Amino acid sequence: MKKKKVIVIGAGFSGLSTATELADKGYEVMIVEKNEQAGGRARVFKEQGFTFDMGPSWYWMPDIFDNYFARFGKKTSDYYTLKRLDPSYSVILSDTEVVDMPADYDALRNLFESIEPGAANALDRFLEQAAYKYKVGIQEFVWKPSVKITEFLSLRILVDALRMDVFSSFYSHVRKFFKSDTLLKLMEFPILFLGAISQNTPAMYSLMNYAEIKLGTWYPMGGMHLIVKGMVDLALSKGVQIEYHAEVSGFAFEGGKVKGVKTSKGVFEADAVVASADYHHVETLLGEAHRNYDEAYWDKRVMAPSSLLFYLGINKRLPRLKHHNLFFDRDFSIHSHEIYTDPSWPSDPLFYASAPSVTDPSVAPDGCENLFLLIPVAPNLEDTEAVREQYFEQLMDRLELYCGVSIRDAIVYKRSYAHQDFIGDYHAFKGNAYGLANTLMQTAILKPSLKNRHLKNMFYTGQLTVPGPGVPPSLISGIVVAKEVDKLLK
Ligand SMILES: Cc1cc2nc3c(=O)[nH]c(=O)nc-3n(C[C@H](O)[C@H](O)[C@H](O)COP(=O)(O)OP(=O)(O)OC[C@H]3O[C@@H](n4cnc5c(N)ncnc54)[C@H](O)[C@@H]3O)c2cc1C
Repeated sequence: MKKKKVIVIGAGFSGLSTATELADKGYEVMIVEKNEQAGGRARVFKEQGFTFDMGPSWYWMPDIFDNYFARFGKKTSDYYTLKRLDPSYSVILSDTEVVDMPADYDALRNLFESIEPGAANALDRFLEQAAYKYKVGIQEFVWKPSVKITEFLSLRILVDALRMDVFSSFYSHVRKFFKSDTLLKLMEFPILFLGAISQNTPAMYSLMNYAEIKLGTWYPMGGMHLIVKGMVDLALSKGVQIEYHAEVSGFAFEGGKVKGVKTSKGVFEADAVVASADYHHVETLLGEAHRNYDEAYWDKRVMAPSSLLFYLGINKRLPRLKHHNLFFDRDFSIHSHEIYTDPSWPSDPLFYASAPSVTDPSVAPDGCENLFLLIPVAPNLEDTEAVREQYFEQLMDRLELYCGVSIRDAIVYKRSYAHQDFIGDYHAFKGNAYGLANTLMQTAILKPSLKNRHLKNMFYTGQLTVPGPGVPPSLISGIVVAKEVDKLLK
């Protein structure tokens, strides 16, 4: 019997995941990807002996990656070697006050106790609840397609929802356990990954603290792009066909269904289509009559921040830097106001510096440092070369002060990346980097649906639908939608 054909738009984590799952279920699957390589926001480039991961740098929730490869009879170690980072990361609170987060739990308890008496036991209690949230959240909630409210209407789920702290904020939750500003900063950091401030983030997401503290911060030796390479190898081994330089520009419809996908390489017919490209962009291509949401809906969404990024090759090693460095030495309330409340370029931003060459000599020439700098900024800002340069100078001043050496004169490679690049490379709505913020009003069934309302064989996956932004959720999103496609086609 002829296999049914599914076309997947985009070869990021969610596209690769859904394509592999569908191929494994026996479908003929083709991915059409506009760019020259897979990975989407996690692409890679090499310049002058440096290897730069373009997006994700934090490998959290290793169990999700393990489970992904295990679905197909593989192990993560078949594709890359993981190293647990210790310290997990460094938090720079001021020029003189730096907290290195130890990977060892007893050492972390001691650190907490030294900052605030009683905080070690408070941490135990906090994490005991967080462990439950992680278990229920990651093993159950994130696997729900969230297309019907009835998925959530059972007594057990209702009880779970209360125990999961779905309806209170992380901000008030964490303050029941800790008082010190330093500990609050440390505990609120993982929430930033969800794209919203802790006041607007459900307390359920203390599961992120469990992930960070108990499951650890890891790094695939060679770089984050090795995850993508592993996923591509696996997809190809299952028979997935990947067409690069195949930009989707429209669709063909017939009888309430999408019949084909128009690309720069021609029109491809399909029994079902899964779009992993940015949701809003795909809606634009579908046209008024077939889109799920109008522009007014999209304009009301709370987007996660965009980013101003710098990829730097430095011809010497930089003292004091760890693999992950969080420069939290400025007032976050002002910076977050400039991201969410009054979107504008930040006056005095917090930033993140990653130096993977601290762990991995393969990503920089001998004696050199590979540096990735990230400032979270509001989406939809006017992004000019002059603005980027102004922030570059600010970051250089702060890094030179912190490291105690000159850096500007040691830069042998420099590339910046911001809104215009996110739009040009990924068709990102408002130049977003991480999709939608995980606020309560944008959780589960309140997120953009993974099914199209007008076309029964059209689906969406990725960081703008369920379960949300980040590499592990994108992997899960791909599997969740593949099951829905299978239900329709089998
Ligand atoms: C700077 C940065 C840092 C991050 N850091 C982390 C981190 O440390 N840890 C973590 O877990 N997550 C991190 N994230 C988030 C994570 O990278 C994303 O959530 C995830 O990669 C999204 O995957 P996706 O498949 O949903 O989308 P994408 O990766 O965007 O994939 C969509 C694909 O669709 C393609 N496409 C778009 N339009 C078309 C078209 N018309 N035709 C054909 N193809 C098209 C794009 O080229 C792209 O390849 C980071 C993201 C960024 C940007």
